[in-house]
Amino acid sequence: MSSKSSHRSDRQMPSSSASTSRNANGHPPVRSKVSPAKRSAVTNARASSSKADDEEPGRVRVAVRLRPRNAEDLLSDSDFADCVELQPEMKRLKLRKNNWNSDSYKFDEVFTESASQKRVYEVVAKPVVESVLNGYNGTVMAYGQTGTGKTYTVGRLGKEGTSERGIMVRALEDIISNTSPAFDVVEISYLQLYLESIQDLLAPEKNNIPIVEDPKTGGVSLPGATVIKIRDLDHFQHLLQIGETNRHAANTKMNTESSRSHAILMVFVQRPAQGKVENELSSQESECGSDLASGNGVPTLLKSKLLIVDLAGSERIDKSGSNGHLLEEAKFINLSLTSLGKCINALAEKSPHIPTRDSKLTRLLRDSFGGSSRTSLIITIGPSARHHAETASTIMFGQRAMKVVNMVKLKEEVDYESFCRKLENQVDYHTAEIEKLQKLRDDDKKEMEKKLTDCQNSFAEAEKTITARSDLLKDENTLLESEIRSLLEELKLQKERNDLMSATVAHLEMSLNQCKKNEVEDFTYQKALMDTTHMYEKKILELTGRLEDEHACAESAHEQLAIAKKLIEGQKEIDELRMKLQEMYQLHEKTVNEFQSLRTENEELLSEKIEGQKEIDELRMKSQEICLLHQKTVDEFQCMRTENEKLLSEKVTLSEELHMARQKLYAEEQQRQYLEAELVKSKKFVPDNDIDFEEKKPYMEENKGRATFGQRHKSSQSQETIYGQRTTITKICEEVGLQKILDLLRSEDLDVQIQALKVVANLAAEDLNQEKIVEEGGLDALLMLVGSSQNTTIQRVASGAIANLAMSETNQGLIMKKGGGRLLADVASRTDDPQTLRMVAGAFANLCGNERLHAMLKEDGSIKALMGMVKSGNSDVIAQVARGMANFSKCESRRIIEGQRKGRSLLIVEGVLTWLISNSTNCPPSTRRHIELALCHLAQNEDNAQDFISTGALKELICISNESSREDIRNLAKKTLKLSPTFQAKLQKV
Ligand code: ADP
Ligand code: MG
Repeated sequence: MSSKSSHRSDRQMPSSSASTSRNANGHPPVRSKVSPAKRSAVTNARASSSKADDEEPGRVRVAVRLRPRNAEDLLSDSDFADCVELQPEMKRLKLRKNNWNSDSYKFDEVFTESASQKRVYEVVAKPVVESVLNGYNGTVMAYGQTGTGKTYTVGRLGKEGTSERGIMVRALEDIISNTSPAFDVVEISYLQLYLESIQDLLAPEKNNIPIVEDPKTGGVSLPGATVIKIRDLDHFQHLLQIGETNRHAANTKMNTESSRSHAILMVFVQRPAQGKVENELSSQESECGSDLASGNGVPTLLKSKLLIVDLAGSERIDKSGSNGHLLEEAKFINLSLTSLGKCINALAEKSPHIPTRDSKLTRLLRDSFGGSSRTSLIITIGPSARHHAETASTIMFGQRAMKVVNMVKLKEEVDYESFCRKLENQVDYHTAEIEKLQKLRDDDKKEMEKKLTDCQNSFAEAEKTITARSDLLKDENTLLESEIRSLLEELKLQKERNDLMSATVAHLEMSLNQCKKNEVEDFTYQKALMDTTHMYEKKILELTGRLEDEHACAESAHEQLAIAKKLIEGQKEIDELRMKLQEMYQLHEKTVNEFQSLRTENEELLSEKIEGQKEIDELRMKSQEICLLHQKTVDEFQCMRTENEKLLSEKVTLSEELHMARQKLYAEEQQRQYLEAELVKSKKFVPDNDIDFEEKKPYMEENKGRATFGQRHKSSQSQETIYGQRTTITKICEEVGLQKILDLLRSEDLDVQIQALKVVANLAAEDLNQEKIVEEGGLDALLMLVGSSQNTTIQRVASGAIANLAMSETNQGLIMKKGGGRLLADVASRTDDPQTLRMVAGAFANLCGNERLHAMLKEDGSIKALMGMVKSGNSDVIAQVARGMANFSKCESRRIIEGQRKGRSLLIVEGVLTWLISNSTNCPPSTRRHIELALCHLAQNEDNAQDFISTGALKELICISNESSREDIRNLAKKTLKLSPTFQAKLQKV
């Protein structure tokens, strides 16, 4: 063990600071590098063990611990008193020499047998642990006879309970809790020294590990030993357990559990020096080492080492009863211990030679005794007098060890690694900064260059533009100057001219123009007026002529007298107006003449005016006069015109009235003519019996061409009259309006009613009018008249009109629906007038042609009424009745042939067969033909056959088949007879 100063930067602890405050064990306080919270725990522990009692800070502290009596002690020493007596309060121990004498020894601490593991740790080991945390090497070592509690004190794991934990566990607990895994490193190696061979307890295969000494520092290391970084206390306890298992323990007689090997726990603590940590942190944060040059930034590391040594027993070999291999073993054990004793002796006596190299133990503990380590030694003793010699030897060892003084030094090293890292960071940072700056400078330069080029370009352009513009402006200037000069000259000339061409001339000219315009207007107007007047005159003359004509016509009718009178009055008025107009015209003529003379004068003046400028004023005056005069004339003319307009409107009103009167007159005339024609017709009327029935033609088609009432005149002259009348009536209708004519049907005046009815009847003869008449309520009006009027003419004409309307299939339905059948039957029953009866019969005949109305006609009694009409004896009436029956039977037979009807004929039910037979003789040929046809058609229905037989109609049919004047009817009758089985059967019988 050497006190030589090493090459490492170990710094000696200043003795002055150490002397100011010491802990319980006399160790000087050491600075703590742990966090405030962790540091406080250490500080508290230190406070509890404070009391300076030694002036030498590096001296090895020695405490003695007495093991309680064990079972063996109690058994063998029951009669003896203890060989030691402890005075813990005085830190003294008395070793009994004999019954009378004892030697007293002072120690740094004396632990009685009842001392707790905790107190032992805090007094013996804790100051050393704190020292280690602060960067000093430290050693805690247990020395004593086997079985006195070295392992108990140092290596106990404390599985039974934490209070039983030994120094190793407690020391590591403190170290772990006072270091930070982020910055600090705690590592261990666990070895045993046995028979001068170092074995790795954490890797038992590693045996005989060599000790390497650094020639520079003189420090020892075991490069072959396993070093494990400690994560936490559990991890450490686990490793310790492994080591314990591996530890070879040889049993001895004295204590079967004790070990003959030295167990050495090495704890390496590495942490950044205090103050430097903060520096480093801040430097990392800023990424820029701010104060490198000052040297304050050089990071240092505290690299300290704690040795906890559980020595093998210090007893004599003979006493332990070892033999054979064990003897050899004991020699080696003692070699190391003897060597340690010698070294301590030498150190205690301050001998110049320390035999450190004699054993491996002394080599390993070189720094612990006489080195730079803070060292605590606990010596364990037993109470038994039997081991007095061993106890005394142990005490003496302790006493000598107390004299060893170490030079405690801070184990501080420059942390080259982190320093290098830091420097590299800084270099990187500065390089980046420089690059950044360089880039910025380059960018700036480029920008400036670009701006410069732009500026130069724009400058050149501006120069060009300015030059061009100045040239242009110069040119323009010259041009403008010359222009201005010429304009000024022109202006001057213009002004002179303008002065000459006075405003008066312009004014006069203007007024003259105005005059001319006025004259032209006057002339045009005059002409128009004259034209209008001429036209009116002509029209008036025309109207007068017409009025005279119509006046003559009007005299014929009584009703028109008043109107005619009025017309005469109107004529008078017109004459008067004409007179007035004549006068006006004369007046106007006069004015025109005057105006003409004035114009001539004006013209003269105008021609004169052109001759000389001097006469202009005169002319102007005259012109003004003319204008005034003209104005007056115009005003007068205006008045005349207004009057003329008034007259004209009066004339229009009068002519309208005249037109109306004419129309009325015309209508009257037409009616008169119609009446006359009617009269002629009624006289000349010859019924048309020659209605030609054709089998295949629909009945309505047949009717359309022929059976129109009121147009039956055969002669072409009469036809013409009728057509002329109809045209007239149509014209009346167009002018007056159908509705007005229909309204007249309801007139109070019987004559008017009759006349209107005649017009309607005539209109109804025309297919085109039929629909219109029905639409506008004509049918209703006619039915009303038929039903209500007692007047024969009305009944006749209305029936005729209905008969005409009944030509249309649509109207037939309407007539029946509106009760027309019944009304007509009623009329027939009431009148004897053959004309009326003919009309009614004609209407029925038309209705009979519509098969859908057959049932209704029967129910209405129309068929009965039709047959009853024969009583009049009028052949025309009979002809119509026969036509009706022919129509009826034809429709019926068609229905039967088509299979749409069955059963006896409705006509036969009504007794028509008898009627037909009785009326078949002595009738005109056309009536006869209707009867024949009716019989033929009825015979076609087999259901009628029996009636034919019973009534004798069959005979008539046979007669027709032979004698009918028409071949087609004869053939029809023959065919019918032939086809009917009943008739055939009857004929065969006959
Ligand atoms: P050594 O390691 O010195 O050979 P040990 O530590 O093995 O001795 O102790 C021997 C025996 O004595 C063990 O059984 C141990 O439990 C007991 N012992 C030692 N010291 C004490 C003590 N202070 N209190 C109680 N028992 C003890
Ligand atoms: Mg032991």
